[in-house]
Amino acid sequence: MKEGKTVNACLLERKHFDTLLDALKVRGYKIIGPIVKDNAIVLEPVESVTQLPIGWVDEQSNGVYRLRKTDTPTLFNFTVGPHSLKQYLFPSVQKIFMTQRQGKSTESTVDEKVERKKKYAFIGLRPCELAALHIHDMVFIGGMYSDPVYQVRRKDLFLIVVNCTRAGGTCFCASMKTGPRAERGYDIAITEVYEKNQHYFILEGGSDRGMSLLKELKQGKEIDGRVQKVQELYTKAVQEMGKAVETSKLKDILAQQLEHPEYDNVGNRCLSCANCTLVCPTCFCSTVEDVTELSGASADRIRKWDSCFTLDFSYIHGGPVRLSVKSRYRQWLVHKFSTWIDQFGTFGCVGCGRCITWCPVGIDITEEIVKIRG
Ligand code: SF4
Ligand code: SF4
Repeated sequence: MKEGKTVNACLLERKHFDTLLDALKVRGYKIIGPIVKDNAIVLEPVESVTQLPIGWVDEQSNGVYRLRKTDTPTLFNFTVGPHSLKQYLFPSVQKIFMTQRQGKSTESTVDEKVERKKKYAFIGLRPCELAALHIHDMVFIGGMYSDPVYQVRRKDLFLIVVNCTRAGGTCFCASMKTGPRAERGYDIAITEVYEKNQHYFILEGGSDRGMSLLKELKQGKEIDGRVQKVQELYTKAVQEMGKAVETSKLKDILAQQLEHPEYDNVGNRCLSCANCTLVCPTCFCSTVEDVTELSGASADRIRKWDSCFTLDFSYIHGGPVRLSVKSRYRQWLVHKFSTWIDQFGTFGCVGCGRCITWCPVGIDITEEIVKIRG
């Protein structure tokens, strides 16, 4: 790029994509990105472009997730897999503090491993995942009390989002206004273009450090009015999106329809397995367990993911409040699209579609909302 010029956007050809990863490494970042593992696309450490899911496409529908290898050399022609940022910022198992016996007294220490030694750069996040991150920021660090684990892990992340040019089979981000193009909260946004044997990426800077990195990409070129081209790709993704949620007045409708007969119907089908809450990038229910060494010399307090679908989650002095599966499903759906707004001023759903894909019986939250709105 030209010396001294502020760089908001540039074009990077596929053959030079490595330079983006190299620039992150030079800055000391450990890169986490999408790779194929166990027949799914998950987020794991990435050292080189060759580890990315080159040519892989995901096929998703209610209760179905499949990967298919194609001949195209695309790097990001898939949508969201079972992983999200949640695993990294709000780990499924986290030691909170330890207590050790010291003679006749005990000494408690907060787990120092909360402190991070490495800086992390995430590449390949989707716009809906950035929206989920924004929601978690409100939940964990936006109120009167902050979660120290999340706060430390959230600090200094370098976020590279990939705008979606193809809709997944269960996505409805357009309804939730969280995609297919990221509007904010990223350092660099990438749009991949592969057509007529041309393969390149439009890179847009969303922060000072993102723009500074773009400026250093020696192989970055001017984008030459290709903004129109990528806009057409986002429009195509919206048109392809097979699922939708009508959000107008939804908060009030759900609050008024708590006895809707559809809750009996879905309660009969739901297995209460909690898959939907575990893959959801915004669900954040947790529980704490105390684990004591057999000798009694030490004990740890551990925070673990929990789910509003488990019976124990609503246990209050003598028994669970939500005994039926129907009541637990209703709690989840109404929280996501109604009471979450009372708590945090936003929906608790970003339209990623994971809960639909990973539900073993294919329950579809968009279909349930249609029936309850009905
Ligand atoms: S409720 Fe479902 S679609 Fe909405 S954010 Fe969670 S997993 Fe994604
Ligand atoms: S809606 Fe589906 S994924 Fe969620 S608890 Fe019920 S069966 Fe499991």
